[in-house]
Amino acid sequence: MPIRFNFCPHCSEKIIFEIEMDDIDSKQYPAPVYIVCKSCKKLSTFYVDSFLRVSYKELEKKSGGIRTIQTK
Ligand SMILES: [Zn+2]
Repeated sequence: MPIRFNFCPHCSEKIIFEIEMDDIDSKQYPAPVYIVCKSCKKLSTFYVDSFLRVSYKELEKKSGGIRTIQTK
């Protein structure tokens, strides 16, 4: 399962999460997935490409996501 390193758009803390194809609706890319930051507990939307790499992120919960991932 791919592990991703990134930064929370709310608190800028480093976050680590695991993601797999089942976590996204692959009908369109970049595909949204919801990420909950371990530090600030806030949810944001991360958009990933077909290699599950983060393309960009939004502070709010955007539509189209099918799963929420907790960070480690
Ligand atoms: Zn945070």
